[in-house]
Amino acid sequence: MKALRPSWLNEDCPTWCVREHREQDRPDDRYHFSEASTVPVIAFAELSVDVAASMHGLDLVVWVGRYLGETLEWVVIEPARERDPHLILSVESAGFLRDKIGEQLSRTGRDSGEVGK
Ligand SMILES: [Zn+2]
Repeated sequence: MKALRPSWLNEDCPTWCVREHREQDRPDDRYHFSEASTVPVIAFAELSVDVAASMHGLDLVVWVGRYLGETLEWVVIEPARERDPHLILSVESAGFLRDKIGEQLSRTGRDSGEVGK
C-alpha cells in the first residue's frame, strides 16, 4: 500500500508504477517508474581482435518511466551498480530496438526465445 499522496501528485499513478512518491521529491524526481527487470549479461568493454580480454559480467536493469503530467513514456537500460552507460529510449524506439535485436539474433541461429537456454 502506498503512503499518503504528496500534494504535488495531481494524477493517478499508471498501473505499472511502483514508486513511493514523497512530498519532498524534487521536480526532477517527480516521475513514475516501474519495477525494474534485472538481466545478467556478458558485456565487452571494446571490440578488438582479443575481444575476450575485455569480457566481463554485468547486471543490466530495464525499467519504464514517465514524468508527472506527461504522456511520453520511456524505457531505461542501465547497469545496476553504475550510472553509465545507459540508454533512455521512447517506448516506440525500445520496441524497434527489441525487433532489431531479434533480427540480429536470428542471423546467429538464435531467436529471442532461445536466448538464455
Ligand atoms: Zn507513480
